[in-house]
Amino acid sequence: MICEMCGKDSDFVRTIFLEGAQLKVCKECAHFGESPEGKGASKKGKGGAAPPNRAVVSERLQARERRMRSRDVFQEETVVDLVTDYDKVIREARMARGLKQDELASKVNERSSVIAQLESGSMRPSDQLIKKLERELNIKLTEKVTLVKPESSGSKKVLTLGDLIKKK
Ligand SMILES: [Zn+2]
Repeated sequence: MICEMCGKDSDFVRTIFLEGAQLKVCKECAHFGESPEGKGASKKGKGGAAPPNRAVVSERLQARERRMRSRDVFQEETVVDLVTDYDKVIREARMARGLKQDELASKVNERSSVIAQLESGSMRPSDQLIKKLERELNIKLTEKVTLVKPESSGSKKVLTLGDLIKKK
């Protein structure tokens, strides 16, 4: 069972009420809300003073909101990816230094066939090899790419707890 507040997988799940929403949460998060039985959790009136753990609650809710956004509403993710013209970048940097493929290969502890494959674009370098090549040739082989997937037509907008808190 996944805690609806912190997203942790927990054997212990209990239902609490928080900001008017019913949540199934783990043991650690249970004390943030009002229990339906009215015991164990402090009862607070509507519009009453904020509980002392409010910062923690809102931090968790924001983390939850981010997770829900990425999963259910849309996906926006920044990833570090290999540049698309890495073959050309490697080849040009190597030639600019007057290195032969086998000379570059020995500098990065690879076979020259590996360099040939990289320069023909038929093989992607491993993360480790990327770092070695970047160091050796003083080049940049990665770039930050932001992936945005639009909301899929099937999923419906979820009212997050972050929304509920802002409305107060
Ligand atoms: Zn939790």
